[in-house]
Amino acid sequence: MRWSRALIPTLKEDPADAEVVSHRLMVRAGLLRPAARGVYTYLPLLLRSILKVSQIIREELDRMGAVELLPPILHPAELWKETGRWDLYGPLLMRVTDRHERGYALGPTHEEIVTDLIRREVRSYRQLPLSVYQIQTKFRDEIRPRFGVMRAREFLMKDAYSFDPDEVSMANTYQKFHDAYCAIFDRCGLAYRAVEAEAGEIGGTVNHEFMVLAGTGESAVLSCGACGYAAASERAESAPREHQLPDGHQPKPLEVVDTPGQTTVDEVAQLLGKPAEAFVKTLLFEADDNTVAVLVRGDREINEAKLGRLLAVERVEMATPERVVKVTGAEVGFAGPHTLPDGIRIIADYSLAGRGDLVAGANQTDRHVTGLEIGRDVEPHEWADVSVAIDGDPCPQCGQPLKETRGIEVGHIFQLGTKYSVAMGATFLDESGSPVPFEMGCYGLGVTRVIAAAIEQNHDDRGIIWPVAIAPYEVEVIPLNMDSEAVVKTAEQIYEACQAAHLETLLDDRPDRAGSKFADADLIGIPWRVVVGDRGVEEGVVEVASRREAEPVTVAPNEVANHLRERIEPARHGSD
Ligand code: ATP
Ligand code: MG
Repeated sequence: MRWSRALIPTLKEDPADAEVVSHRLMVRAGLLRPAARGVYTYLPLLLRSILKVSQIIREELDRMGAVELLPPILHPAELWKETGRWDLYGPLLMRVTDRHERGYALGPTHEEIVTDLIRREVRSYRQLPLSVYQIQTKFRDEIRPRFGVMRAREFLMKDAYSFDPDEVSMANTYQKFHDAYCAIFDRCGLAYRAVEAEAGEIGGTVNHEFMVLAGTGESAVLSCGACGYAAASERAESAPREHQLPDGHQPKPLEVVDTPGQTTVDEVAQLLGKPAEAFVKTLLFEADDNTVAVLVRGDREINEAKLGRLLAVERVEMATPERVVKVTGAEVGFAGPHTLPDGIRIIADYSLAGRGDLVAGANQTDRHVTGLEIGRDVEPHEWADVSVAIDGDPCPQCGQPLKETRGIEVGHIFQLGTKYSVAMGATFLDESGSPVPFEMGCYGLGVTRVIAAAIEQNHDDRGIIWPVAIAPYEVEVIPLNMDSEAVVKTAEQIYEACQAAHLETLLDDRPDRAGSKFADADLIGIPWRVVVGDRGVEEGVVEVASRREAEPVTVAPNEVANHLRERIEPARHGSD
């Protein structure tokens, strides 16, 4: 391809709205242009990379026995009502109405559509296990679309759905997808790890997220260097801790202090000159008609999924302000643990273990207490792990401190069980001829997000450094002086020879200055570069360099295609 015809609109300036390097580089390198908030045109360079990632996905999934199909983007509302997700999915679901006033969703995920297909088409255990996948545009009306294609409202996803006759078979299929995902991300040149994760509204029990390690990632991963435990921060657990006060701790008397109008930990911390970790946050939740008080250190957050599991309820709800006033006798913001009425179950998070001389709400409007001691002023009914784990918490498996790193979630796989097959009456006939609901799994992978993540991990201050396996082109030929007939002729010959050798080649045929061609070549980051200059042509050589290691070597023009093929072919499978 000739640059002059390739529609690669590079920019010198950073776009104002781009917060992360991948977004900045994708716009500057002419990969991406916005059409609306979180909605983009994928320009030719990006599309070429998308097609390569898609091909890698296809090869690995076909190899593990999944089959590709293409369901619609437009989903009839009735199907989403069958699973209750028409309401549960909320404003994230983009909805449209047709001329007959019938409602549709623009698919954000395809459990309903695919389960509906399979319940109609698959009758017998003999047809199982069956795994289907698609690569298609998804719509999600994200609250905060940002970071370019990393969190868009319209994006490309590979999603797959598996149907198995029983749990053992389903777990086996899940493992095959897990392994295929590892192969895909390895081939895309990503440094990633699979971590235990929270299922969220999709449901099911066992699930893993694939996290690409990157400082700008929106997700936090907690991992243990000692035993290898790793989990998304929403999911990560921590080991139990004893409530043992430090030697020499001198308890003070409980004192009530005035804190007029100061309802948050930060406000009261400022007023009293104490750090947030010296506070007890007391939060009231409703679970099955009971009110539960959860105590957590002032600088920590409650993890509602953990709390739900502890209380064995699907969803925990914060108590309403009216309920808080009724239970504590004070306005919201002044709840404390020490004078709660009997019958309120008190759960203390391990983050408070070993802490004394605490500040808490006084259960009186505009008042807090200081000098609170757990064990003296309040006896929790139980200690539990109900906060969001953070760096330094003890590993649930071995007790060593967990380390927090940032990650970009590029894939998420779930064992769904029979949640969707039961809700939608999707059954097959087993060997005895009885109807049995399918055991299902679902497997998402963000194609466009993978590319953004690859750029987060592969760039320098001059631009993108594409891994060969997903690069839009493999070779860029740069004639430095378009006024020299000899230079142009040599460049054209190399371009032809590379194409004949099946190397994907871009020829920068623009009349621009050498400096600006080099800057653009660095920016778009094609892995191999051939520079054709006046002097070299006189001497019968050109310069060949990789984008990753800038040191060029000189090669005779008629050797270039061979020289590059030897280096590029092995890297196409992800070994550069
Ligand atoms: P997140 O937690 O980032 O919102 P999710 O849990 O909603 O993602 P899934 O439903 O598991 O995502 O979707 C599967 C994959 O699709 C994700 O792992 C991610 O790679 C990709 N993806 C999800 N939402 C977006 C989005 N708004 N823009 C781009 N890719 C996305
Ligand atoms: Mg997810």
